[in-house]
Amino acid sequence: MPGKAIIFSAPSGAGKTTLVKHVISVFPELAFSVSACSRPKRPGETDGKDYYFLSRKQFEEKIKRGEFLEWEEVYSGIYYGTLKSEIDKIWSAGKHVIFDVDVVGGLNLKKYFGNRALAIFVKPPSLEVLKERLQARGTENADSLKKRISKAEWELGFSKKFDKIIVNDKLDEAMKESEKLVGEFIRSNR
Ligand code: ADP
Ligand code: 5GP
Repeated sequence: MPGKAIIFSAPSGAGKTTLVKHVISVFPELAFSVSACSRPKRPGETDGKDYYFLSRKQFEEKIKRGEFLEWEEVYSGIYYGTLKSEIDKIWSAGKHVIFDVDVVGGLNLKKYFGNRALAIFVKPPSLEVLKERLQARGTENADSLKKRISKAEWELGFSKKFDKIIVNDKLDEAMKESEKLVGEFIRSNR
């Protein structure tokens, strides 16, 4: 049977990376789609595992060569994108692919994969909580925090275009809900 695609999208800080990691730990038949990006590596991140870290120039060369299934300048001056080669690799290995992408990227992937994909929107309980989580994560400075919050307000307006919405308030409940939705989808015949 051909592989399926599971897409987790959300404003930055809503908890999609946490939920994706959890779901992968539960279902061994899933493989994470490692995106390419042009931002600097954060402490603790590994090239080829968290992202393929490229320079702006290297990223732009891959755009020109048509190597991306989708790409975006998610934040001003910083590119993120899904490499076609990554999906081919995962499906050839007989696994389903799982994505952690921003909201516009998620909708583009859903449009591309159609019924082969389940697109899940992870919603924070409120913008205030989102801000607190981003601050607690300790990855943002005042400027990037402001940019992420103002983008989040706009992104929340797209939630209804997704197949499913998970409100990530209590983490254990959101994890259970993710397991349920992903489990049902990978066992279904669609
Ligand atoms: P995203 O991938 O959407 O940017 P993360 O998964 O990195 O979000 O989560 C942002 C921060 O919030 C992390 O520090 C994470 O540990 C924390 N977090 C995630 N879910 C919850 C939750 N339900 N309650 C409290 N903190 C959470
Ligand atoms: P971060 O810098 O916090 O790792 O990620 C920033 C944002 O870029 C997140 O919302 C993340 O989901 C998104 N992102 C990561 N990879 C991709 C990708 O391949 N395509 C798109 N469109 N967004 C991505």
